[in-house]
Amino acid sequence: MKKNIINDFLHKTTTRIVCDEIYVGDVNSQLGLKNKHLAKTTADQHWFEFKRQLKYKSNWYDKYFEVVNERYTSKTCSNCGYVTESLDLNIRQWMCPECNIQHDRDINAAQNILTVGTTGLAFGKIS
Ligand SMILES: [Zn+2]
Repeated sequence: MKKNIINDFLHKTTTRIVCDEIYVGDVNSQLGLKNKHLAKTTADQHWFEFKRQLKYKSNWYDKYFEVVNERYTSKTCSNCGYVTESLDLNIRQWMCPECNIQHDRDINAAQNILTVGTTGLAFGKIS
């Protein structure tokens, strides 16, 4: 029963959000869920299935789908490009010390994944 509800949700959601261009990160894990091993495994399977459906549905509707390297996308300020040294997984919001923008970790990462996908840029530390 629960599995059917989840499958229904995944299909309806992926069908609804397919658009002209989709960029997703290359990590197949919900890193924020690090509590129970079983819960993490199940969440990872759903996340993998979610991305799999987005990919084949993008193909069905002749839309663009790309998996991008999401290295540093959480740690890089999407406003100014500043890269923070460390960002523990339990920190869901952070403020950029360079431009003072307050970031939601996931939204900031999503904005950076979009930037990487649309521009071909790769984020990384310059040493
Ligand atoms: Zn910044």
